Amino acid sequence: MSNEKNEICSECGDKFGFHYGGDTGKLMEEKNLCFSCAFWFELIENRSHSKSVVIDGNHFQICCENNLPNSWKGHGGRKFCIQFLSDNRIVETTNLWHQGEIPERFRKSLPDNAIRLPEETISVLKKSTHVDARGGM
Ligand SMILES: [Zn+2]
Repeated sequence: MSNEKNEICSECGDKFGFHYGGDTGKLMEEKNLCFSCAFWFELIENRSHSKSVVIDGNHFQICCENNLPNSWKGHGGRKFCIQFLSDNRIVETTNLWHQGEIPERFRKSLPDNAIRLPEETISVLKKSTHVDARGGM
């Protein structure tokens, strides 16, 4: 019985059942959302000026730099250099997680806020005496 998909998502109209725990599960119940919509609502509600990145309609989160093995980090510990559009901040990270492509219905709430720069950008900026490495070009 409990596996029946007999709820209708208030956002996208998909059928779903309640089978999730945690914050996403709570949100699904409260707002009558399918898993996918609740997942994106959570990202919208928890948007962070310093950590939430949207590039080309794809959502990423910058997680803390740590000494964990690369295989435990986002993108296998690959280095990314990201520039925020709002204030030109340039951030280097080796722990970037990809949440996926933002569904069309959530694009307005999660507009592009950054661009990806070549990964060597920071070291180039640091070497240059003519450029402010904090992004005030
Ligand atoms: Zn939905």
